[in-house]
Amino acid sequence: MWHEDDRIIELYKSLENGGGQFPRECPACGQSHAHVLIYRFEPSSLRGAVWVWCDSCGCYAHFDALVPVW
Ligand SMILES: [Zn+2]
Repeated sequence: MWHEDDRIIELYKSLENGGGQFPRECPACGQSHAHVLIYRFEPSSLRGAVWVWCDSCGCYAHFDALVPVW
């Protein structure tokens, strides 16, 4: 069921100022079943690990990134 799909990274790129409500619309299938989990490596670090996935179509992406201040 789960498969990597870079299209869902667009959801992470669209997050601004706190992220808003979830689940969000999935860029791959259009259903409102997409989630984001952000883990900051260190409290003072600008970098972290990101998981983005959709419960509806099963697409996901996992990557390191600059994480939002919020
Ligand atoms: Zn989807």
